[in-house]
Amino acid sequence: MTLALGCIADDYTGASDLANTLTRAGLRTVQTIGVPADDLALPEVDAVVVSLKSRSIEAGLAVTRSRAADKWLRSRGVHHVLFKICSTFDSTDAGNIGPVMDALRADCGEANVLVTPAFPETGRTVYQGNLFVGAVPLNESPLKDHPLNPMHDSNLVRVLARQSSTQIGLVDLGTVARGAAAVRARLAELADKGVGAAIIDAVFDRDLETIGLVAGEHRLSVGASGMGIGLARALVSTGKVKPSAASSDSGAAVGGPAACLAGSCSQATLRQIASAEKIMPVLHLDPDRILTGSDEAQRALSWARPRLAEGPVLIASSSTPEQVAALQARHGRDAAGYAIEQAMADIAENLVKSGVRRLIVAGGETSGAVVDRLEIPGFLVGAEIAAGVPVLRAVGAQAGDMLLALKSGNFGGPEFFADALRLMR
Ligand code: ADP
Repeated sequence: MTLALGCIADDYTGASDLANTLTRAGLRTVQTIGVPADDLALPEVDAVVVSLKSRSIEAGLAVTRSRAADKWLRSRGVHHVLFKICSTFDSTDAGNIGPVMDALRADCGEANVLVTPAFPETGRTVYQGNLFVGAVPLNESPLKDHPLNPMHDSNLVRVLARQSSTQIGLVDLGTVARGAAAVRARLAELADKGVGAAIIDAVFDRDLETIGLVAGEHRLSVGASGMGIGLARALVSTGKVKPSAASSDSGAAVGGPAACLAGSCSQATLRQIASAEKIMPVLHLDPDRILTGSDEAQRALSWARPRLAEGPVLIASSSTPEQVAALQARHGRDAAGYAIEQAMADIAENLVKSGVRRLIVAGGETSGAVVDRLEIPGFLVGAEIAAGVPVLRAVGAQAGDMLLALKSGNFGGPEFFADALRLMR
């Protein structure tokens, strides 16, 4: 199988966002966790998003991991690779955007790379090379105080030049507005001057389409989900990909018992748990017992197993903000979070051993702990349950065919668990 698009994402949630965006644009998309094994059997797909955690690690390590991902994608016939970064260009003068871009560019021998974090539907726009977050330039946005990579310069030509060994050019909005031919001409002009990469302006969705068309003719681009939209639409409009209905179709039913796990303490999740109480048995874990070493996971499993044949169950550690604060005061924030995440992972692992094949998890960190424990190499992205939360079909999982929904705490409406179960047959 030849993939139409390969992507390397520098963090997991950014990867999911991109995979979901590509699916909505009609591309059948798999998101992998890390660089897949050479023998990973992929379903018939158009795009693969390799999720790395390389945004804030040492630049040399980010380069090594990104090159391994690139090699895997190119070995699957990928012509174009999108290096997916954050739409707020999260990085420091030491990297990692510039060093990774330079290495991938050298590996594929590309003369000129288009770069833009623009994603107009989420308020990220680029004008004259300056990134705006909503109405303010990047350096006036909350990103100026980011704990890992404070952004003090909104001019991305300058920001990227400090990180890259190549000269950085600009393709301005006027050129983009004149269409693909004008962008190609400008890139040729820059390439003649030895400029290896260019920030390209984008303010409206239609700018992304022009950019996607031209970027896809090259071997490498750098951008956020907006660049993904542009590339996906170009693949569809040029007939290279026949759009699929994956975003409204959950595929073949998996059957088997279903379970929900909630480790998020967000207001939205607390409301969703209250709604779920009306339609399924709910067990509230005792977080203190988890922290003091009692086998709370075992108690939960003994409670769940006899109920699974009757229908879905929900197991929650979630508490009110006051209870969370009290627990953290007694045990420390990190220790409390970690212990509860591991208990949730224990429960998930044993539920799957007991036959659960449809699993819904509420909470970003909680989902990460569960997915790592289940050692799931990747997911085929399916129908959208709520904005940003698709049904995921496990690819290459030890347990075989399985459906998951991984929800960031605040996502989804009050009936989220029922909504998810309806789409996860
Ligand atoms: P969200 O997506 O809402 O941020 P996460 O799963 O990312 O949810 O984070 C929730 C964190 O709170 C996790 O580390 C989890 O283990 C922890 N946690 C869950 N329940 C409790 C609780 N009752 N008290 C304190 N911490 C909790």
